[in-house]
Amino acid sequence: MSSSLIDRARSVMPGGVNSPVRSYRAVGGEPVFIKRANGSKIYDVEDREYIDYVCSWGPMILGHNNKKIAESVKKAVDYGLSFGAPTEKEVIMAELITSMVPGIDMIRMVNSGTEAVMSALRLARAFTEKSKIIKFDGCYHGHCDSMLVKAGSGALTLSHPDSLGVTGEFARNTLIADYNDIESVRRLFAENKGEIAAVILEPVAANMGVVPPRDNFLAGLRALCDENGALLIFDEVITGFRLCPGGAQEYFDVRADIVTFGKIIGGGMPVGAYGGRKEIMELVSPLGGVYQAGTLSGNPIAMAAGIAQLTELKENKDIYLRIDRMAESLEKGFKRMAKELELTLTVNRVGSLLCVFFTKEAVTDFKTAKSSNTKLYAKFFKHMLDNGIHMAPAQFEAMFVSDAHTEEDIEKTLEKAEKSLREMK
Ligand code: PLP
Repeated sequence: MSSSLIDRARSVMPGGVNSPVRSYRAVGGEPVFIKRANGSKIYDVEDREYIDYVCSWGPMILGHNNKKIAESVKKAVDYGLSFGAPTEKEVIMAELITSMVPGIDMIRMVNSGTEAVMSALRLARAFTEKSKIIKFDGCYHGHCDSMLVKAGSGALTLSHPDSLGVTGEFARNTLIADYNDIESVRRLFAENKGEIAAVILEPVAANMGVVPPRDNFLAGLRALCDENGALLIFDEVITGFRLCPGGAQEYFDVRADIVTFGKIIGGGMPVGAYGGRKEIMELVSPLGGVYQAGTLSGNPIAMAAGIAQLTELKENKDIYLRIDRMAESLEKGFKRMAKELELTLTVNRVGSLLCVFFTKEAVTDFKTAKSSNTKLYAKFFKHMLDNGIHMAPAQFEAMFVSDAHTEEDIEKTLEKAEKSLREMK
């Protein structure tokens, strides 16, 4: 049935999907169409069961179809789907986020991570009255024009658009540095004195696989921003509420000026947010001159899902111990297998984010991440899928562990991984 759906889908949607990675272009083969999900499992249209490590690309930290979230959403639906007027739920959501994340006095809800980043950049430019933004090669910040830019092979200052349709004008103000290379950032500040509005990054790079920040990298960025009157933007669309309740700021003890969120704060609904200190956020309309609005922003159904999820995370901090422990078991299992089967595997993990690279190099930056043999990853992915394990259909993504994953799931995953890797040899 998946195959008849993909034919229909391809005739009415580009590539048959609403987001490119779902098409399996990176790994080959036909995408599986999903009908339902529960706990740690997803089920395709033929009712085949998979242990799921995509978790909707991050939001489902409590697992699929969490009872408290589902009940909260059902209750909200009875009250009406959207009002376009202030609601108590938006206040509760803002109070939750500002109480859990350090350094955020005010927050503005939007509808996606892309929107959050786009708005945060506009705000940083307005606050600093500067125009250039430093981003890192291999960090993904959504699909707004100015962020679809990265360096052409090693050229740090000559920015090239990364997507057709992004013009040079959009690319010009986006400067590209190398993740985990503080000198590349220092150079850009020196070459663009007084022009840098902000440095934006994923504090843990989770869109090049999973690459943790080197010791002092984040603190180094903080210092460079302070020295140069630029803002530090942590894009926590993935890491927010994933590493710990306070996100990367708390986890690494480094403060950002603006933080963007998405994924987890929506509990599975389309939500994003950006927040920061009062003096910065007061520039946002209607208080200040930075215009940003949204017909469905703060939507009551989305808020109901997000509030239920964040409340669980706030009240049950042991969730983080559990998901980190499960991810650690996976990490250890993969590493043991690599040794026993004499495979060139590298496993990176930060908390419950995990990635298996097919390289013998330690993956510490984008260059070493790219040394992974993506053909082998594609093969691994297919074997795992055939064995009932759903991993990201692309190498440069994270595996997400949720609180619904059990020790039994982890054991089964490792058993299937070993079988897959043996068959691949
Ligand atoms: N920022 C990061 C770090 C992301 O991983 C993503 C999406 O994966 C985005 C921004 C964009 O979020 P969205 O897909 O909700 O627009």
